[in-house]
Amino acid sequence: MKRLVTTSAAAAVGAVVSALLFAQLPQFSNAVKNFITVEAPVVALTNVRVIDGTGAPARERQTIVIRDGNIAELGETSRVSVPSGATMIDLTGKTVIPGLVMLHEHLFYPTGSGVYGPLGESFVRLYLAGGVTTMRTAGNLAGVMDINLMRQIDARQRAGPAIDATAPYLNGPNELLQVHSLKDADDTKRQVAYWAEMGATSFKAYMQITRAELGAAIEEAHKRGLKVTGHLCSVTYAEAADLGIDNLEHGFMPSTDFVADKQPDVCPGQPKSQQAIAAVEPNGEQFKALVGKLVSKHIALTSTLTVFETLTPGRPLPPGLEVLLPELRQQFEQARTRVAQNQESPYKTLWPKGMALERAFAKAGGMLVAGTDPTAAGGVIPGYANQRQMELLVEEGFTPLEAISISTLNGAKYLGRDSRVGTVALGKQADLVVVNGDPSKYIADVRRVETVFKQGVGFDPAKLIASVTGHVGLW
Ligand SMILES: [Zn+2]
Repeated sequence: MKRLVTTSAAAAVGAVVSALLFAQLPQFSNAVKNFITVEAPVVALTNVRVIDGTGAPARERQTIVIRDGNIAELGETSRVSVPSGATMIDLTGKTVIPGLVMLHEHLFYPTGSGVYGPLGESFVRLYLAGGVTTMRTAGNLAGVMDINLMRQIDARQRAGPAIDATAPYLNGPNELLQVHSLKDADDTKRQVAYWAEMGATSFKAYMQITRAELGAAIEEAHKRGLKVTGHLCSVTYAEAADLGIDNLEHGFMPSTDFVADKQPDVCPGQPKSQQAIAAVEPNGEQFKALVGKLVSKHIALTSTLTVFETLTPGRPLPPGLEVLLPELRQQFEQARTRVAQNQESPYKTLWPKGMALERAFAKAGGMLVAGTDPTAAGGVIPGYANQRQMELLVEEGFTPLEAISISTLNGAKYLGRDSRVGTVALGKQADLVVVNGDPSKYIADVRRVETVFKQGVGFDPAKLIASVTGHVGLW
């Protein structure tokens, strides 16, 4: 085989190191092999439009050479010499974007009122099919399942994205049957230590946690180099920021910072906090002060427009419902009818307000990341929803290139994995989504995924989806 001419010494060293790593990668199980369409030591994607994920304009007629799972060459097709023996794939008219890195994902789904079924088996395939190659689960309701899936996917025994696996939710006294109620700060420390030991790589605090418990969780997690995010209520965003939290979920929608008579450590309940958020002015001093605090402390904010869209009257039906078990699909469609008929829905105001506040945060220099949150009354379908989230970021006011960057590079930066994933760049892991069309002009083209490369191996989204269709809800 012809030797590759690399453009820099650093890249050459990187290639040697990654080749050694690649040699140690385990074989795919037969179950995973069923979904693979491209697997070769050297692959060349030619004549393709590249959106690299940094926000830079799309580049036309590029060639990407993938060797041992990494991007070994990247440049204009006329200038890149493709090694002999490479598997060539002509992608004229198509676009490559980085594999998505999304941060509010789950491996469970609402199967009944207050009940969440563990659907890890089908969800990891759907996420990968939608172009997600790295994800964080933002809260876990199935104990070791998120961690086991993370390990089995890394060991190539299952098809799915690389997972940053959260521990079970950290919450104060609550009525969710599947969630432990923390007793105090000591109990919190024990939980964090135990789950870190078990292999969890991330933590999620929830609505009834106290300041003392959240502070203890952050201290214990940070000691281990692990991060904490929160869907908060009892603790305000400003309080959580002062305690050192790393990330806040759902934009500003759950913030209780603007509730006039907010009692410390008490969640004032959804109607009250929603009314307060609905009244917040993006240009008001109070909001600007909160944003200033979050930005100065480098706290990331996760946009999960997809879940709020399912709760807002007048919005289109979400994509992907056809993969659901028929009973679950029917259940969602009934919930959706009730949403559509609710003239009093707070989301009529909250939907545009939530977008305006997120946008103001990003404009002020805040780090916005993206996720989907397959919860509420259902209808947020992994993979499909990740694509929808990018469309909604564009509706929120970002350019398509910015929406893609938020959903790739920003997520990778938050996870501290941006030296390996998150952009299409020389030397990085070949996590690439091939789409038919040009999402830099028309963001909806991100739905037209043809192949998802993870570490240089191409997966067929149609096969992944077909393997679960009609069963999503059972496993
Ligand atoms: Zn969630």
